[in-house]
Amino acid sequence: MLRVRFAPSPTGYLHIGAARTALFNWLYARKNAGRFVLRIEDTDVERSSEMMSKEILEGLRWLGLDWDEGPFYQSERLDLYRKKAAGLLDRGLAYRCYCSAEDHRRSASAEPERGAKSRMYDCRCRSLSDAERKKREDENDSFAVRFAVPDEEIRFRDLVHGDITIPRGILEDFVLLRSDGLPTYHLSVVVDDLDMDISHVIRGDDHISNTPKHALLFKAFGERMPKFAHLALIMGPDKKKLSKRHGVTSVLQFRKDGYFSEAVVNFLAQMSWSPGEGKEVYSLEKLTELFSLKKLSKGSPVYDPEKLNWLNGRLITEKSAEELYPAVLSLLYEEGLTMDRPDEESLARIKKIIDLVKVRNRTLDDFIPRMRPFLTDSYPIEEEGIEKYLRVPDLDVFLPRLASDFEKLPDFTAPNVENALRNRAEQEGIKPAVLIHALRVLCLGMTVSPDIFEVLTLLGRERTLRRMAMQRVNRI
Ligand code: GLU
Repeated sequence: MLRVRFAPSPTGYLHIGAARTALFNWLYARKNAGRFVLRIEDTDVERSSEMMSKEILEGLRWLGLDWDEGPFYQSERLDLYRKKAAGLLDRGLAYRCYCSAEDHRRSASAEPERGAKSRMYDCRCRSLSDAERKKREDENDSFAVRFAVPDEEIRFRDLVHGDITIPRGILEDFVLLRSDGLPTYHLSVVVDDLDMDISHVIRGDDHISNTPKHALLFKAFGERMPKFAHLALIMGPDKKKLSKRHGVTSVLQFRKDGYFSEAVVNFLAQMSWSPGEGKEVYSLEKLTELFSLKKLSKGSPVYDPEKLNWLNGRLITEKSAEELYPAVLSLLYEEGLTMDRPDEESLARIKKIIDLVKVRNRTLDDFIPRMRPFLTDSYPIEEEGIEKYLRVPDLDVFLPRLASDFEKLPDFTAPNVENALRNRAEQEGIKPAVLIHALRVLCLGMTVSPDIFEVLTLLGRERTLRRMAMQRVNRI
């Protein structure tokens, strides 16, 4: 059975890159009726935290990426890693290294003429005589366990990058167990991928340089290695590796900022893969149907927040007010724009406003400024609008006349309001746009808006007239 895993280190938030790795693993598992295993790689005690583990799980849940097994915590599996290291020691495939960090540095600088190789650790302990080894053991000297890298070429096939060959003599004898008995990433990752019977490892390109070491370890354990697929790293808009500098921290930040998880999922899916033209928002089911490792590109995708905004805006437009209002309501409540539980009538009005303004919205937060003028009289007025649309000759004559037309309407419905306005424009010999622009600025404070006649109807006659009068009162 196909088995994949997502193996984050809880040393930071579930960032965009890790979330994309999780998504691709999840899609691959679901597509092939496989299992998606969650493993928390928390052996770096100092840098790992429980809070981050929780954050990562929460992020995965929010994205809808449920796991079939785990979470397994590597910190609870230390005995297994030690046992496996001991097995390699017994078989002479690893050795005890008694050197200190200082020895390491000295050895590296002792032979500068070795060029690149001078950075490699020339470990004497690999060739200690039996007597010397026995002496160190008897003295109870502390030691690390190093893997005895065989002098051979390493080959593996990557499902994204193709065949990869590492010439002999490049890898140094790397550490498996530190002197404090904690495993290195290389040991724990390979032991776990074997123990958890992982068939495919899908992870970021930042690990591709580790894979040759892992290939050697799989062989040393006498097992076949899983298939590997390394995903090209996501770049910031400045073409540098995506990091906190780009203002992208946790995936959960998107939730706080009013994005839908579906938008974020589709955004992640577009990095290194293109499900469709990028002009549609797919459900996880549909993405699963479309997903294929073969379609992943080698080139680095660039993080483009505008794409996310577009996807989110698209979702907002597609969703009904019925679906949107609970989230919008809680934002409005936080802003003090509505009561916790509006009565039925206000709620019906709020839903109508949502339907009206949602078209241009990119995030849920955008609802606040756009809905504000419908809910309170204190709303900002765009300076540009005042200059452009209210400093029009004779507007102070036209508006009171239009106001009295509005007053006389039997019902303040959109078609009635529109008729009244067009008639007034005709009588004054001006374009209807002159009145429309002025009403937008006065009644909403904005220069662009949804259909103004719908807007005015939803504002209601009383508010509309009051705001039209503002022009005279405040001499805006
Ligand atoms: N724990 C590693 C990380 O968070 C991933 C290990 C792997 O996928 O092999 O980068």
